[in-house]
Amino acid sequence: MMKTDVIIIGGGSTGCGIARDLAIRGISHCLIEKGDFASGATGACHGLLHSGGRYVVNDPEAAAECISENMILRKIGQKCVEQTGGLFVRLPGDSKNFRDRFLKSCETIGIETDVLSPSRALDLVPNINPSIEEAIKVPDCSIDPFRLCMLNITTSKKRGGRILIHHRVTEIVKEHGKCVGVKVREGLTGREMELRGRIVINATGAWGDKTAAMAGGSVPMTLSKGSLIVTNHRLTNMVINRLRPSSDGDIIVPNEAVCLAGTTSMPVDDPDNIDVESHEVDLVAAEAEKMIPSFNSTRLIRTYAGVRPLLSSETGDDRSISRGFRIIDHQNGMFSIMGGKLTTYRLMAEKMCDKVVEVFGLKKRCRTAEIPLEGQEQLSGYPLSKRLKELKDIVCECELVTRDAVERAVNDVGPRYIGDIQHRTRLGMGPCQGGFCTYRALGIMQESGRMKPDESKRILKEFLQRRFKGIRPALWGDQLREEQLVESIYLGILGMEEKG
Ligand SMILES: Cc1cc2nc3c(=O)[nH]c(=O)nc-3n(C[C@H](O)[C@H](O)[C@H](O)COP(=O)(O)OP(=O)(O)OC[C@H]3O[C@@H](n4cnc5c(N)ncnc54)[C@H](O)[C@@H]3O)c2cc1C
Repeated sequence: MMKTDVIIIGGGSTGCGIARDLAIRGISHCLIEKGDFASGATGACHGLLHSGGRYVVNDPEAAAECISENMILRKIGQKCVEQTGGLFVRLPGDSKNFRDRFLKSCETIGIETDVLSPSRALDLVPNINPSIEEAIKVPDCSIDPFRLCMLNITTSKKRGGRILIHHRVTEIVKEHGKCVGVKVREGLTGREMELRGRIVINATGAWGDKTAAMAGGSVPMTLSKGSLIVTNHRLTNMVINRLRPSSDGDIIVPNEAVCLAGTTSMPVDDPDNIDVESHEVDLVAAEAEKMIPSFNSTRLIRTYAGVRPLLSSETGDDRSISRGFRIIDHQNGMFSIMGGKLTTYRLMAEKMCDKVVEVFGLKKRCRTAEIPLEGQEQLSGYPLSKRLKELKDIVCECELVTRDAVERAVNDVGPRYIGDIQHRTRLGMGPCQGGFCTYRALGIMQESGRMKPDESKRILKEFLQRRFKGIRPALWGDQLREEQLVESIYLGILGMEEKG
C-alpha cells in the first residue's frame, strides 16, 4: 500500500497548484485526478487572467487578489500567460455611474487604468464597435489553463510527487473517525488500490460536496454552469469586457489562434451532466456582437461549458456570489478548498499549504511566487506567428503542433486518450477542431508501440463523440459544411460508421 504525507483529490488548477507548493516545501504528496489535468472548470474556463476589473465594483476583496496574482503569474509563467491587456468598453446606454464607480474602485485597489476615446480604442482593436462611448484599458491577460496545470505538475513530479491521472477516488478511508487514506479506481482497467496519507485535501471544485460527503462532511456550494463559444480566428488581440455589472456574454478573450466568448450563468445540480443549450449560444453571440460587430459573420467552431464551484450565498443570484475562496477544516484530517478563480489558484494553494505545515508543526514558507514555473523552456512563447520559424514536421496546422511535441506527449502519458495529447500540445484545439490532425496523432500513438491491439477504434470513438458534443450547438453555415467533410473522413474513409 502506498503511503504519503498529503493526498490531494482533484487535478484542476487548485490541486495542481497545491502539488507544486508542497513539492517546493519538500512535503511528500500524491495527486489523484479522475480525468486528465484541467478536466473540470479549469479546462472549461474563459482563460482570462483577471486584472480584477470584472469584480472591482461588487467584490473588491476578490479583485485585489486578482490583480496581485495577475502580476505574480505574468512574472513566473511567461509561457502560459499572453500579456494582451484588456479593454472595458462602454456602449451607448451603459451606465455612466457604474463607469465612475469602476474607475474609483480600480484606483483604490491599485488596478492601473487608462481611459481611451473611441478612436484610440479603435487603434488598439480595429474590430471593436465604432459607436462605443469610451474604453478603459486594464492589465487583463490571456492564460492557457492546460499549460498552467502541466507546468505546476512538472515541479511536483521532479521533486518526487506521485501523480495519478484517470484515477477516481471512490472512498475515503477512515479509522477512529479520522481520514487516513483513499481508495481509487483506474479509469480504463477498473483496477483498484488504496493509498494512505496524514492529510486529505479535497480540491474537487464543483464535485467538492460529493467528495466531502465520502468523509461524512459537507461543503455549502452553489453550482453555476457557464457556457462559452469559440470563433474560428482571432477577432481581437486584447481581452474585451463590457463595462457594466457582470452579466451574460460580457467577455471575449483571445486564445492562441481563436477567441472565446462567454459566458452564461445557470444553476445546475450535477456537474457531470451539463450541456450547452442553443439559446445560450444565441445569447452569447448576440452580446459579443455588440462589442465586436464582425462576430456576427464569424464562423463558430465549438461550444463548451463548465461549472463554477461557488460558495453558497443567501441571495440566490449566482453572479453576486463572491469569487473569493474558503478553506474548510472538517476536523477529521480532511480539508476542502473551494471557490476562488483560476487567476487566484496560486494564492489558494499557498493558504492551503500554510495549513498543512501548521498541522505538521513545520516551518517551511511558501516560495511559489518567486520561482518561475519549471518546464517552460520546452514551450514556445507568444505570439503564435513567432513559432513558424522554429517548426518542422507540423502535425496540427491550426495550432502549429509538431510531430516531436506529440511524440513527447505520448511518451509522457501513454497512448490512451486523444484528450491527453490535446491538453499537452494544443493539438486539435484550433479552427478544424482536430478534424484534420487527429488521425495523424493516432498514427503517432500507434507507432509508439505502446498501444494495445484494437485500442485505436475506442480512442477515436471516444474523441469523436466528445468533439461532436461541443460542435453540435454551433452547427450551421460554413461550420456545417466543414463538419460534413470531417464526418465523411472519419465515418467513410476511416470506417467509423456503427454497423447495425
Ligand atoms: C464557464 C467558466 C468560466 C470561467 N472563466 C474564468 C476565467 O476566465 N478566469 C478565471 O480566473 N477563472 C475562471 N473561472 C473559474 C475557474 O475556472 C475556477 O475557479 C477554477 O478553475 C477552479 O479550479 P479547481 O481546481 O478548484 O476546480 P476544477 O478545475 O473543477 O477541478 C476539480 C477536479 O477534481 C476532479 N475530481 C472530481 N471528483 C473527483 C474524484 N472523486 N476523484 C478524482 N478526481 C476528482 C475533477 O475531474 C476536476 O478535474 C471560470 C469558470 C467557469 C465555469
